[in-house]
Amino acid sequence: MKIIVIGAGILGISTAYFLQKHGVEVTVLDKEALPARGASYGNGGYFQSSVPDPWNAPGIFSMFLSAWKNSLTGKGDQSAFSAPTSSLPGFASWGLDFLSNANEKTFLDSLIKNRNLAQYTRSVLDDLNVAEALSYDQSQSGSLIIFRDQASMDDYAAIANLTLGHGTNLSLLNRDELLQVEPSLIEAADELTGAVLFPDDHGGNSRIYCEQLCELTRARGMAYRFGVSVSQIASRNSHVKVRLDDGEELIADAAVIAAGTWSRQLGRCAGVRVPVAPAKGYSLSIPMGNWNNRPRHIIADMGTHAGVNPLGDTLRLAGTAEFCGHHNTGINEARVDYLIGLVRELFPSFVDTIDRKTIDPWGGFRPLSTDGIPYIGKTRVSNIYLNTGHGGLGWTQGAGSGKALADEIAGVPPEFDLSDYAALRIR
Ligand SMILES: Cc1cc2nc3c(=O)[nH]c(=O)nc-3n(C[C@H](O)[C@H](O)[C@H](O)COP(=O)(O)OP(=O)(O)OC[C@H]3O[C@@H](n4cnc5c(N)ncnc54)[C@H](O)[C@@H]3O)c2cc1C
Repeated sequence: MKIIVIGAGILGISTAYFLQKHGVEVTVLDKEALPARGASYGNGGYFQSSVPDPWNAPGIFSMFLSAWKNSLTGKGDQSAFSAPTSSLPGFASWGLDFLSNANEKTFLDSLIKNRNLAQYTRSVLDDLNVAEALSYDQSQSGSLIIFRDQASMDDYAAIANLTLGHGTNLSLLNRDELLQVEPSLIEAADELTGAVLFPDDHGGNSRIYCEQLCELTRARGMAYRFGVSVSQIASRNSHVKVRLDDGEELIADAAVIAAGTWSRQLGRCAGVRVPVAPAKGYSLSIPMGNWNNRPRHIIADMGTHAGVNPLGDTLRLAGTAEFCGHHNTGINEARVDYLIGLVRELFPSFVDTIDRKTIDPWGGFRPLSTDGIPYIGKTRVSNIYLNTGHGGLGWTQGAGSGKALADEIAGVPPEFDLSDYAALRIR
């Protein structure tokens, strides 16, 4: 069996790896020159497996509204969310579906489905780490969700408690307890109310993971073609034809679209509707140097909607959402200033030591589905599969999504039931 996988991010490479394990002949195509140059490059590195909450939370509409107002008043670069008026028409049809799913029932239902996939991913990754001796700055640090007021902490704890019945391990910490487990927050202590601790959450660098799997699979005979852009996909009765920008045509038994936020355009040319929209986010990777009070946990700050993660020798700060389509791929200095300000709120003395030239600012596009869960599996067009729409949880769910889809394509009895995530649910 020959399969073409489009996209060499977390989802494409994980799918390709497990397909190869099943003896499938795989070719991976990517428009970039190297693996993981899309959203999988500089994300937060947080395996948010305890409470992987989707973005379609009740109340998201007011967040969109404030994002739009921020852009109108020129404060877009100085706030967590922005939505320039000029890009809103591009979000219209996706946005209506997304907002119709922003209710408590769908949100909680999606949260539990995300959690199941995240937990499965955890077990797949544990096996993979051992089998391939992978090393991508993994940490078993646990995560802390910190709060600046009791009401927000109580609201969040109520949601987290709903996952207890599904095996989530958590503790509520008051400020003193928080400082005991996470002394790095001492300078921000006066601002903080407390935290929820998830000891089972973990971290890792997804770019290195992709690069390592790429190297391993290539050495075992997988074909990678970088720097080629797919312009057409056509399904025939028993095969697919994939056309590249330069006119070259490739033929395979099936194709997997794992092209992140670009899956929408690729799907369209194949006759497959893929309702994903890009939410641009940013990260900074700051060398921690000799800092002797480094964070011990991943710390997500619900006040600023950003998180920090000690990844190897760097502190990775990630956050913000811009609904700007695929435009605005660059990084502007005002946004970098804003992000540095967020780190300063938690670690002012550390920020004073930062050399701005070393902080490697990055921006990428989260592929958001309309109902907060990814689209995985066969589509209404024969021989074409999807593995996309993981939003802000693609790292948390990547390896498991790849394994489960590879099992389905290869016709291997599945370890994990994908019916909750089926791409066929797209109407
Ligand atoms: C700021 C930020 C922070 C995040 N933090 C976290 C986190 O802490 N934890 C977590 O779980 N998730 C996080 N995420 C989400 C996660 O990074 C994504 O869900 C994940 O990377 C998506 O992977 P992907 O493989 O679907 O897409 P991508 O990594 O974007 O890969 C898609 C690939 O398809 C290629 N492609 C596109 N079109 C074509 C074409 N026509 N022809 C050939 N190739 C094509 C692209 O070049 C790209 O390499 C974050 C995302 C962002 C932006």
